[in-house]
Amino acid sequence: MTSQPLSFDRVADIYDATRALPDHVLATIAQTIVTATNAAEASRFLELGVGTGRIALPLLQYGFSYTGVDISPAMIDVLRTKAGDFEKLTLVEADVTQLPFADASFDVALTVHLLHLVPDWRRVLSEIRRVLTPDGYYIYGSDGSVDGQPAGAIRRQWRDVVRELGADARPEHGTREAVQTELIETGALLASYRVVQWEDEVAPGQLLEAIRLRTFSQSWQVPDDVMEEAHRRMIDWATEQYRDLTKPVSNIFQFGFDMAWWPPSSQGPNMERQKE
Ligand code: SAM
Repeated sequence: MTSQPLSFDRVADIYDATRALPDHVLATIAQTIVTATNAAEASRFLELGVGTGRIALPLLQYGFSYTGVDISPAMIDVLRTKAGDFEKLTLVEADVTQLPFADASFDVALTVHLLHLVPDWRRVLSEIRRVLTPDGYYIYGSDGSVDGQPAGAIRRQWRDVVRELGADARPEHGTREAVQTELIETGALLASYRVVQWEDEVAPGQLLEAIRLRTFSQSWQVPDDVMEEAHRRMIDWATEQYRDLTKPVSNIFQFGFDMAWWPPSSQGPNMERQKE
């Protein structure tokens, strides 16, 4: 499958301000990953689509050797600046569908908010399996608002309005369910961790403005005129729902991950397919 990788260069300077997770949430995520994977200081971590290091930085505190891959030089630059002099951090500009690493060179591989952006996400999974040691772990992580919460409802409504206007938000590729199915087909065992939930307040008007400014990648292919009309319709819809759009409303967010590993006996149906 050929397609341009979805570089986040255009939002590198606002990414942290618009996707920040509270410190205690980051610490809990890192601790849960370390416990789940039984990681020790000698463990070699690989994070694909590492971005500005939201997840990498708290894990680096444990002293692991950590390799981050991203297609966006601007995102990597932000991470490099924040990381300072962590000796065991290696940052590589590459496409995650073609990893420039030898077979079996990592103990843990992570993707957080990545595979839904990659049309050929199955290839990424097979690259992950190639570069993991046979007893390595793969972690598929994601965060977002819990179902039914205002932030998710607003973004869902925006997608519907864009569709009504004859355009499409960027499609979701490697969704959690699709990735789970694919992993199981390759003979993996899976464990799901609902790691942490937290509450935050968001003013609906502020979220609508962020959407209008194309802060989120779903909007990057939507034409300008559709963006403006969708914004007008969203203001009307949100005013009916929330009345005062400047007043922050409570939202519950969550972070969770699925962890996959391949027991020695695993010979799932895809093992044959991969050999062809
Ligand atoms: N994992 C980080 C986090 O959770 O904050 C960043 C997630 S951000 C939504 C997705 C990142 O993946 C961006 O930095 C983008 O440049 C990168 N990316 C998207 N497609 C890629 C590809 N095919 N190869 C390498 N990096 C890619």
